[in-house]
Amino acid sequence: MARSLDIGGDFPLLARRINGQPLTYLDSAATTQKPQAVIDAIRDYYERYNANVHRAAHVLADEATAALEDARAKVAALIGAGEARQIIFTRGTTEGINLAAACLTDRFGPGDEVLITEMEHHSNIVPWQLLCQRSGAALMACRVTPTGEIDLEDFHAKLGRHTKLVAVGHVSNALGTLNPVADLIDAANRQGALTLIDGAQAVQHVDVDVARLGCDFYAFSAHKLFGPTGIGALYGRADLLESLPPYQGGGEMIEHVSIERTTYNKLPYKFEAGTPNIAGAIGFGAAVDYLGGLPREALRDREAALVSEAIRHLKQVPGVRMVGEPSERVSVVSFLIDTGHPHDFGTLLDQQGIAVRTGHHCAMPLMERLGIPGTIRASFALYNSATDVERLVAGVEKALEFL
Ligand code: PMP
Repeated sequence: MARSLDIGGDFPLLARRINGQPLTYLDSAATTQKPQAVIDAIRDYYERYNANVHRAAHVLADEATAALEDARAKVAALIGAGEARQIIFTRGTTEGINLAAACLTDRFGPGDEVLITEMEHHSNIVPWQLLCQRSGAALMACRVTPTGEIDLEDFHAKLGRHTKLVAVGHVSNALGTLNPVADLIDAANRQGALTLIDGAQAVQHVDVDVARLGCDFYAFSAHKLFGPTGIGALYGRADLLESLPPYQGGGEMIEHVSIERTTYNKLPYKFEAGTPNIAGAIGFGAAVDYLGGLPREALRDREAALVSEAIRHLKQVPGVRMVGEPSERVSVVSFLIDTGHPHDFGTLLDQQGIAVRTGHHCAMPLMERLGIPGTIRASFALYNSATDVERLVAGVEKALEFL
């Protein structure tokens, strides 16, 4: 029988009441709630087969190792990576980007450029600033249009023979803009530049196929994909990963160690020093399984319809100003109110059981470009329903009475 679109019941937390009201959770861009299946998988690991992975000769260690590697294969399949060894487990998107930047630093020098956009999350800005400070390379940022899209003319003007790497977000966490990353990667490849895509906000909402995209790196976090916090993945092109120096030194990333020198383990272990987040990886795999069992197309269509409905209604509320009108958007509705500070407004919504996020959303350069201090952001996921849109719009109208 076809799976119903009403999947909210899979997520125990969504049944909570907040401030005496039913919960309307519209902060999934910050982190998604977790289905029972993910919670159970983590618990099962700790209850039945907790052990450290690799190297050991006992049943528990074998089971834990098999579960970790199984999760890696699932994550690889989810994003179309040809081989599981191209998936490095990280703490999340932030660590994935930092790993790439740290390991690439030696390839950069004065005269080289890294091209990002003004739309990036701080996680896709600061690691490149660090790379530039250490190497003498220059950081270039492509402009964003007033509607919240990448200014393609500016992108192509700034992409040149000095560009050694292009790092772009797939989806903006602040505005929901779905960026034309396939075209940007093509253009970068033609210039011979490496590419890294920050997929933190994309993997839940669009089908990602890294092989088809042709990017060199793709970073994302499990916790924005119904999985646990503290775990994520960095996909990397295998030959590139092979040629890079390690990220951190320690156990697991070595092949042989003497006091004088060390030879390194094969992929992906070369980049995974120390005991990994085993429970996290298993939870990540369970989240991928959970997603695989959903009618994703239909759920995404419904989510897109909810986002459009929310925008249509909010536009009609006097005193509400929408921020960003990208032609292609997923999940996120950002707005401002004329009469008060976003933070106070967020508190008024919270009192009604409506969880949104307010502020600069770790995208200060974007806020500066748009000339605003921050926004009120409602972000949708596959478990939201028409009731959530109704409650948001009614909640906004009510909150406006107080400001
Ligand atoms: N990039 C984007 C676009 C994001 O939305 C986020 C999370 N808000 C990050 C990077 C960082 O992700 P994490 O905190 O999971 O490392």
